[in-house]
Amino acid sequence: MANKMRKDLPRNEWDITIVDQYKTHYYQPGFLFIPFGYYKEADVIKPKSNFLPMGVNLVYSEIDKIDGDNNKVALKGGEVLNYDVLIIATGTKISPEETPGLKGDLWHKSIFDFYTIEGSKALASFFKTWEGGELVVNIADMPIKCPVAPLEFSFFADAFFLERGMRDKVNITYVTPLSGAFTKPRASKMLGSLLAEKNIKLVTDFFLGEVDNENKRIIDFGGQEIPFDCLVSIPIHTGDPMIERSGLADDLGFVPANKNTLQSDKFENVFVLGDAGNFPTSKAGSVVHFQADTLHENLMCYIENRPFTSSFDGHSNCYIETGHGKGALIDFNYDTEPLPGSFPFPGLGPFGLLKESRMNHYGKLMFRWIYWHILLKGKEMPIDSQMTMAGKKME
Ligand SMILES: Cc1cc2nc3c(=O)[nH]c(=O)nc-3n(C[C@H](O)[C@H](O)[C@H](O)COP(=O)(O)OP(=O)(O)OC[C@H]3O[C@@H](n4cnc5c(N)ncnc54)[C@H](O)[C@@H]3O)c2cc1C
Repeated sequence: MANKMRKDLPRNEWDITIVDQYKTHYYQPGFLFIPFGYYKEADVIKPKSNFLPMGVNLVYSEIDKIDGDNNKVALKGGEVLNYDVLIIATGTKISPEETPGLKGDLWHKSIFDFYTIEGSKALASFFKTWEGGELVVNIADMPIKCPVAPLEFSFFADAFFLERGMRDKVNITYVTPLSGAFTKPRASKMLGSLLAEKNIKLVTDFFLGEVDNENKRIIDFGGQEIPFDCLVSIPIHTGDPMIERSGLADDLGFVPANKNTLQSDKFENVFVLGDAGNFPTSKAGSVVHFQADTLHENLMCYIENRPFTSSFDGHSNCYIETGHGKGALIDFNYDTEPLPGSFPFPGLGPFGLLKESRMNHYGKLMFRWIYWHILLKGKEMPIDSQMTMAGKKME
């Protein structure tokens, strides 16, 4: 957003300030690859300052509180910043401490996450010497970032243990609160068949209540138990605690905002971008990129006192690793579920929607380069930020 807005706002009239607590930026989709040794930490980390244009103030500090009534942001050290317009983009993080026993004695010993750099690195060293047993991949509850990532993890695990000649020693169980492999019917069917093909057991409608460290079991709210030797958990996701302290949060700490205009429900000069919002679409980097086009246009409308002209449609686009050098792709929005077809060019692809192909796997690998060089720098992609039906098949 800083890259986009700095081009349009005269420097003698507008200051742009970014506040972030950390100097480093992680390419989070890369965390999926680390447990299997496909990527190392160095492949997913860069300094934030690399991506910002001249003429933007960068403040490294934790935000303590947003005071929306008085247009102020209080920083942890006591400094207070005033604003005319505020964009909240504080993302979401896993909160394993919300589930009894999850962050217990076995945390990062036989219970892991792969949604943090620490978790994915701990899992990588565990897998190096693990001799097999019950591998349980569990989503505690929705919403989570990149809802396909746990499926990709399971597909990778199948391929990884097969390639190491020990697949027969590892039982993989995929345990989800959803009633199928994925949220939307067609994608759920396709991804559910892939799980079955790869001999990955699917357990649905399981809402994680607690983790029994002593007997190595996960237990849902209805009392159903599943034993594990290695638990890969996708814990409950929450917004940053600062959002709640600021009186801006819903039950999970996300900021309620208009899903089309991206304006906060509470303050007209506050806008919300990405995972921090309560938008009914995936929490995904592709979504942030598409939203940014709408936000750019609507911020200019707000500043120039015109009605909003852009409406975000919920567009999300995710490559899904399916193992053995193949991948799938889904493209959808608030109203249209993932459909089969070709992307981005009708009939030509080169990527296939809702089907496995090598090209889709290359798309996922290319995404890292695109992320560092195009998305973070706020450059244009040759893909419309609004979802298009071209290339999609309705049958
Ligand atoms: C394992 C995994 C796989 C994924 N795979 C994909 C994928 O294949 N495709 C895809 O599109 N997306 C994927 N994602 C999701 C994607 O990474 C996120 O959706 C995206 O990074 C969200 O961007 P954001 O700007 O909203 O939040 P973030 O990138 O999380 O940034 C939030 C920023 O806010 C800062 N912050 C928060 N609170 C404070 C505070 N109080 N004070 C100061 N600073 C604060 C943080 O330090 C951080 O820099 C994946 C994520 C994970 C974990």
